[in-house]
Parts: sequence; C-alpha cells; structure tokens
Amino acid sequence: MSADLLPALLEQINGDARRHADWGRVASYIPELACVDPAQFAISVCCVDGREYHAGDVGVGFSIQSVSKVFTLALALGRFGDGLWERVGKEPSGRAFNSIVQLEVEDGIPRNPFINAGAIVTTDAVLGSNAPRDTLGEILLFLREAAEDGDIHINDSVARSEYATGDRNFALAHFLRSCGNLHNSCDKVLGTYFHHCAIEMTTAQLARAARFLCGGFAGQRMIGIERVRSINALMMTCGHYDGSGAFAYRVGFPGKSGVGGGIMAVVPNVASIAVWSPGLDRYGNSQQGTAALERLSRDTGWSVFS
Ligand code: GLU
Repeated sequence: MSADLLPALLEQINGDARRHADWGRVASYIPELACVDPAQFAISVCCVDGREYHAGDVGVGFSIQSVSKVFTLALALGRFGDGLWERVGKEPSGRAFNSIVQLEVEDGIPRNPFINAGAIVTTDAVLGSNAPRDTLGEILLFLREAAEDGDIHINDSVARSEYATGDRNFALAHFLRSCGNLHNSCDKVLGTYFHHCAIEMTTAQLARAARFLCGGFAGQRMIGIERVRSINALMMTCGHYDGSGAFAYRVGFPGKSGVGGGIMAVVPNVASIAVWSPGLDRYGNSQQGTAALERLSRDTGWSVFS
C-alpha cells in the first residue's frame, strides 16, 4: 500500500474506534488508572522514510505501564548480554501478566521479561547497586533519546497509586527474592518498577521511541541489530501475555501492550506504531487498540508472515 493512503486509513481507523460502543474496561486495580475515560483513541505511525502519520487524541499523554518493560529489557541486554537469560526465560507464559503460580513451579525463574515477575527481575538487573533515581534517569534518557523528545516524564501519582495497591507485585518480588533471583530489596526494586511503569507518553512520542526496533534510521545508534531481533521476537511471542497467540494471529507483527491501554508495535524495516485506547479486553490488552492494529495490518498488508 502506498504511504500516501495512510492518512485516510488512520482517520478511518480512528472513526471506527469511536463508532464502537464497546471500549472495554479500564484497569481498576491501579486507582489512578481507574479514573481514565475509556472513550479515547489515538494512533501514530512512523515510517522508515521519516514520514509520520497521526489520528485521534495524539496529544494526550497516557501511562505506558508494561510498554516500559521493552526499554528496561533493552538496557538490561545492553549491560548483561545473554547472561540475562540465566535469570529470566524467553518462553510465552500462557498465563496472566501477574500470575504467581507458574513462578513457584519453575523455581523463581520467570517465563519471560514481559510478565510482571520477569520485568521485576529485569529491573533488579538494571538497578544493580545504583540508586533508583539514577536508574530511572537512565531509563528516561534512553526513551528521550529514542523519541528525540525531552518532554517525557514520570507521573508520580500513578506510581504512588500502584505502590499503595501493589500487594500482588510485592508477593512476586518476595517469592523471587526467596529463590535468590532478586538481589536488591523488594521495596527498592518495586519502587523503581512502579515508577518506570508510570512514565507518560503520547502515541506520537511512543511511535517515535519505537523506531529503534524498526531497522533503518534512528534505531541503529541505540542498540545493535541482533538485540533488535531478540526484542522483536519476544514482543511477538510474549508481548500480550496470554493473548499473545491471538495478537500474532490477528495482527501479524510484534507488539507490546500495557494496562494503560497503549500498544507499541513494529513492522521491521517498514514502520513503528503506537496506538492507545484505555479500555482493555479480558487479557488486559487494549480492546480498540488491538482492533485498530488488526485493521491497519489488513489494509496495508503489513505482516512478518507474508
Ligand atoms: N504496572 C503494571 C503492573 O505491574 C504493569 C502491568 C501491565 O501493564 O500489563 O501490574
């Protein structure tokens, strides 16, 4: 499909999302996210030739939540290389994002870096012996450089809100620590984890930040092509929790969702995409965001499978 047709297609996708009465349900277990109006939608596409296209509420910032796990993974792989895989696996979980049961059966080695337990280990690795403030500064710097935008910040109220209700993540962290797979205190790791999940971005910023996974231009100065391939493979197989198979089937390119309703997606060597709509489906993935990516892939022919 010619890029000239993208603006009209994005407007149609935006219109479709708004015509749908069924927005899904916003995440309610983090009180600050429970107040977000579900009837919002935005989509941004950055093509490898540098052109950008946007539709919907593209100026509205949202909580990127688990999408941040992609950036901490990139930092952890940069620092530890394949050594990271001694502490966390690379397999789809087939379980909810915050599942505890699998962690016990598998002796405290989380299935992958995108379920909560895996991201908590990755955050611990990136922390090392540094102060949380320094590690959060490093994560923000990576994002700002990737997006070429200094106006990306953490929403402290969201981080505090999650901290206050984060019993399940504390349970995961304590179990990991009892297995020797968390080196810092639970409090220090989760304080850092909740804050990187509480980073706020617009779809325009997130699509630009995702260019580093896309091949070509901005990307290659951030991480090497081998790491890009590894991260995209993990987003394809594990980026949507126990809805990952259905996402691959419906959309056909790698993506990572967050409970704030954002999805960051990559069509290698073609485009990076961010979509946001806060209402979630039963797996915790954006309902209208997934539908939008499905339509985008169908109408453009973008897929890694054909
Ligand atoms: N901060 C969220 C949590 O730990 C991230 C989950 C998500 O976005 O899927 O529960």
